[in-house]
Amino acid sequence: MAKGGPRNSMPQQDAAARAKNFDEVALGYSEATALDEAERCLNCKTKPCVQGCPVNIDIPAFVDLMKQKDFAGAANVIKKTNSLPAICGRVCPQENQCEKFCVLGKKGDAVAVGRLERFAADWQAANSNGSKASFKPEHSELANYKVAVVGSGPAGLTVAGDLAKIGYTVTIFEALHKTGGVLRYGIPEFRLPRTILDREVEYVKSLGVTIFTDIIVGRTFKVEDLLEQGFDAVFVGSGAGAPKMLGIPGENLSGIYSGNEWLTRINLMRAHRREYATPIRMPKHVCVVGAGNTAMDCTRTALRVGAEKVTIVYRRGREEMPARGEEIENAEHEGVVFKLLTNPVKFIGDEKGAVKGMECLQMELGEPDASGRRRPVAVQGSEFEIECDTVIVALGQNPNPLIRTTTDGLTCQSWGGICINEETGMTSIPGVFAGGDAVTGEATVISAMGAGKVAAAGIDGYIREKHGIS
Ligand code: FAD
Ligand code: SF4
Repeated sequence: MAKGGPRNSMPQQDAAARAKNFDEVALGYSEATALDEAERCLNCKTKPCVQGCPVNIDIPAFVDLMKQKDFAGAANVIKKTNSLPAICGRVCPQENQCEKFCVLGKKGDAVAVGRLERFAADWQAANSNGSKASFKPEHSELANYKVAVVGSGPAGLTVAGDLAKIGYTVTIFEALHKTGGVLRYGIPEFRLPRTILDREVEYVKSLGVTIFTDIIVGRTFKVEDLLEQGFDAVFVGSGAGAPKMLGIPGENLSGIYSGNEWLTRINLMRAHRREYATPIRMPKHVCVVGAGNTAMDCTRTALRVGAEKVTIVYRRGREEMPARGEEIENAEHEGVVFKLLTNPVKFIGDEKGAVKGMECLQMELGEPDASGRRRPVAVQGSEFEIECDTVIVALGQNPNPLIRTTTDGLTCQSWGGICINEETGMTSIPGVFAGGDAVTGEATVISAMGAGKVAAAGIDGYIREKHGIS
């Protein structure tokens, strides 16, 4: 097929079967399909796709190596600027990034850059020692300088990887007992298998990065303690883990979870498996409030833990749903019901204090609001009830307040985001840098990684200037 033809589709597990298991939904390209897809790329000299990539992967160069069947070479080109390629190949919204700028997308289908990235990374891991780095730091004399990283999400892993490649001694402090941030506790296994995540964390470790888990910075010790203990710089990549709730009556009833709590209980604490100590009540009808990516992950997880019925409750219409189109379709094919233009106003409890339903209002769409989406307006007298035994409120997250409230002199936005110099990633405290969701609020894996790269360059510049190193 190749040049001029449509993009190659991604094989998937059958919808009915996959809704009952946690195995990966998207199965990946075969070698023949990957080669065919690579042939579609025009190798544009102006590299428009690269400007859409927050970590500047040389896309035409890696795709060209794929055409020559040099898959390890392709993976190495990607890894020059992206330490987590198999993750990004699976979860990045490429349709809004590199693929949005692909010239082929103007008249037809963009090259499937993400799927090719996934293939190259998986091929390297399967056929060579892909999870171990064989490299020499660019400047081994910088090993005397130490950098502390708070959080092992994509922002923290990227800063750590980039600084270790330069030659710094890097230590990550992670609050949870496992690494990866949202990649582990938020994004479910059927979109990102944990073997892939473990492999890419191992790669970062093989660059020389040390990771300590179960250390809560702000409690175990503070950011300023790290500077006093001899770290030359600190990067705060603590993410956005504080859930936004509806603030309506009855929200404290049992059986009502935030999206984060629900996903953490399933993904990290295995609450759906009897042999683990933190069980959830087996749900019959789960209502998920919200329509972003977190909401889609919650619905699809609820199906997999055995819910009889799962309903998305969203106050706007289909066009306004913020989740990726692909995720909405996947949820729909797996059997999720969409109750649109519906706004919960009150939760109803039973005599034991457990949720048994919610009162909702019918909405209609008015004029666009500040977000550009049409504003939902309540229809007078339209109250109705939905029966359910589990509710998941998935409206997004704000940055966790702990670092903000325990770090003197750290300037933050009124909603909690840490303020930084956009060019260097430095905060209001000299030597303390920040990036990712802790700065922007909930965004994307690749934007957190892009921010990590900016901060790594900023930290390198800061330490060199401070110590007169050229
Ligand atoms: P995080 O990933 O949140 O990592 C922060 C880390 O810091 C965590 O491990 C946390 O435990 C640790 N930490 C926090 N406080 C402290 C402390 N005081 N001391 C020590 N450690 C601390 N983006 C996509 O691009 N594609 C997707 O498909 C996608 N799906 C998503 C699904 C869900 C359910 C959610 C919630 C988000 C999703 N996102 C997705 C968004 C994306 O995951 C985040 O934007 C990204 O993970 C942010 O990276 P980060 O490193 O800034 O923060
Ligand atoms: Fe290939 Fe599209 Fe990038 Fe051109 S814009 S080099 S066709 S991926």
